[in-house]
Amino acid sequence: MNPENLSSSSDLFLKRFCITALLSALVLMILTGYTVSHQYEKYVVQLAESNAERLATSIAKAHRQELDSALQKAPLLPPQLIELDRTLRAFIAPYDLVKIKLFSLDGVVIYSTDMSIIGKRSLDNKSLNIALQGDSSSSIQHKGQIRDLQNEERFDVDVVESYVALKSLSGEVVGAFEIYQDMTEFHNDIRQGVIVLAAIVLTILVIILFIAMFFMRKAAKQMIRQQRQLEQLATVDMVTNVYNRAEITRRLEAEWERCKRQEADGKKVGLMMLDLDHFKQFNDRFGHQVGDGLLRQVAHRLQGELRLYSDLGRYGGEEFMVLVPEITPNGLKSIASRILKLISEEPFTVNTHELKVTISIGCAVAKPSDMHSDELIKRADNRLYAAKNAGRNCVIGADEPAP
Ligand code: GH3
Ligand code: MG
Ligand code: MG
Repeated sequence: MNPENLSSSSDLFLKRFCITALLSALVLMILTGYTVSHQYEKYVVQLAESNAERLATSIAKAHRQELDSALQKAPLLPPQLIELDRTLRAFIAPYDLVKIKLFSLDGVVIYSTDMSIIGKRSLDNKSLNIALQGDSSSSIQHKGQIRDLQNEERFDVDVVESYVALKSLSGEVVGAFEIYQDMTEFHNDIRQGVIVLAAIVLTILVIILFIAMFFMRKAAKQMIRQQRQLEQLATVDMVTNVYNRAEITRRLEAEWERCKRQEADGKKVGLMMLDLDHFKQFNDRFGHQVGDGLLRQVAHRLQGELRLYSDLGRYGGEEFMVLVPEITPNGLKSIASRILKLISEEPFTVNTHELKVTISIGCAVAKPSDMHSDELIKRADNRLYAAKNAGRNCVIGADEPAP
């Protein structure tokens, strides 16, 4: 995979990672909010139930006589009812109660702060049956829910409804209280708690996400940089900074394949083999470092001339290969002549040494009879040797006979 593909696929990966992480954060927030509010509601119901039990015990203790007589004489006559109502209301006034009812053992409402339901019987009321067996039962009732007794008023607040047993002094169940406690405050607390918690969870997740993104981006950039360096190492010659032999040969083969498929106006892929004349002498006179510097400068000058229409590679030693797509033998020869002039007309300066350099060039253009790109290299190589034999500093064109 080349660095550009790697870069766009790492961007895609980061984008997908971000979307997945944000969705996970959302799911996590919803689950956290739901779990916390559920647990808190359970806690509130337990709290309300123990409040209701304590209240029932306190009422039973403080008004034992009135309750006993109410349960025995049911239904109560208005004066007794008014008296009981006054007593119980005074007792429960400090508490945050919405309503309170007292049931006899057979499920008849003996007393209620809502007078209209006194005397009615609650049928199939599981929670009441639990209380009449001595236990307690509590649940949350939301605003506007229909109540068990017909015509019984609906609440305009959420309440915890608790059924608790009313026991005689000997511990025997003699009736049951139904107590409604306003839980609006608790609900507000729950809502606020969930909002604060969700905000904390979201903030933490976003921070973690940003940190993770920062490090992943850094790692991805480093990977792309390393990939570029690796690609550079694999394709570029270290001394001259032009393509190495493997890469220029790969490019020749690719061009060869492309040229086989489409022939543009009789133009075919052209190849030049360039070799510095008497290069060994520079090494021998000035040392290998100067030789290297000279190779680098020659490559640089060639690259400047050829960059737009051809590929340049170091084929080996002081030999370069130039690849020109879609060219005629004449066209190739004129490029080669220009290069020859470009190298020889101006000396190179390497480590203060002024070096006059000439090159020899052999050209070849692909022919329909060529079976492989190697044949092209071979012809260009042969013409390069022909150029050497012809006295160097010259070009042998692609349509000139090769030895
Ligand atoms: P001719 O005109 O026939 O090509 O003569 P020449 O001296 O250029 O060719 P020859 O093949 O005799 O010598 C090539 C020299 O190039 C020999 C070798 O030491 C030198 N050479 C090959 N690669 C490098 C390199 O990477 N750096 C340097 N400094 N010298 C190199
Ligand atoms: Mg040479
Ligand atoms: Mg050579």
